[in-house]
Amino acid sequence: MSVLVYAENTDGKFKKPVYEVVSYAKAIADSLNTSLAAVSIGDVDEADLAALGSYGASTVLHVTSEQLRQFVNQAYASVIAAAADKLSADVVVISNSFSGKGLAPRVAAKLNAGLADGAVELPQVDGGKLTVKKTAFSGKAFAITELTSAKKVITLNPNAFELRETGGSAQVEAFQPTVAQGDLATVIEDIVRTTDKVTLPDAEIVVSAGRGLKGPENWHIVEELAEALGAALACSKPVSDAGWRPHSEHVGQTGIAVSPNLYIAIGISGAIQHLAGVSSSKTIVVINKDPEAPFFKVADYGIVGDAFEVVPKLTAAIKAR
Ligand code: FAD
Repeated sequence: MSVLVYAENTDGKFKKPVYEVVSYAKAIADSLNTSLAAVSIGDVDEADLAALGSYGASTVLHVTSEQLRQFVNQAYASVIAAAADKLSADVVVISNSFSGKGLAPRVAAKLNAGLADGAVELPQVDGGKLTVKKTAFSGKAFAITELTSAKKVITLNPNAFELRETGGSAQVEAFQPTVAQGDLATVIEDIVRTTDKVTLPDAEIVVSAGRGLKGPENWHIVEELAEALGAALACSKPVSDAGWRPHSEHVGQTGIAVSPNLYIAIGISGAIQHLAGVSSSKTIVVINKDPEAPFFKVADYGIVGDAFEVVPKLTAAIKAR
């Protein structure tokens, strides 16, 4: 028995959610008195693979194959399931990232495993049962899911679990499972938008604005605040629908779900569909001129005021620190 974690890489590099998911899986392995192994697919430096050991992985199965250069859900899921079979892993942990959301149910189906997606806390262990607290209904609620099946798959929300460095280095082993041609049948076109800015799903701080900004010509005040904080930019749906901002910045029920440490909402009313994608943020700051704006109900800090006065002052104060 062991716990397996899928270590997803982006262009050959591991990002913070991978170390979170390894730390989380290690904590599960410890509570089950077993070891943690990781599986990584694609070209990643051996030193980076071994460094997963500093978060608790004792072994890393490294899969490199020309066929798997491009991400294909079905094929990657087969590889993760094959790794779980090889190690007799009872629990597989995957980040609840874009690709993790597609992989986890496929891995669960292949292993005949129970699935809890979007975990926000360590599960409670009771014999062979894991009780997992997870987000439900697009983040509008929490659900407690009991996994009673022999095999279990859990996805962890980004920013939901702290990094836990344990020290040490993982042993890296080559792993070459056979991938069926049928698993490679879906061709996915990757459109990569390169940017030197922080990307939204990984961001620890998000500065987001809505229709209260009146128009795209005013976005510089939001951009300046985001730059001062090293934050990613986001927006409400009507803003991206109107073409003021790109759709890649739209957060909420029908957009990207984020859970940063700090979410600053400027001129956004706080409609339930918007909150669905942002309410698991650790700290929410709302700037709105309407004291009755629904967003204030979920805010940790609120500023009732005109964004055009408040935001430049906030930016200046942050820059002065
Ligand atoms: P508004 O509701 O117009 O609010 C603007 C806010 O700005 C107001 O609170 C106002 O007081 C404030 N304001 C105005 N001027 C200033 C100023 N000078 N300074 C400070 N504050 C000011 N929305 C999403 O965001 N994401 C989604 O994923 C999403 N999915 C949806 C799915 C469905 C099926 C439906 C029906 C709707 C969805 N919506 C979504 C839309 C959602 O219901 C709201 O209409 C939308 O979130 C409102 O956007 P907003 O807050 O920017 O605009």
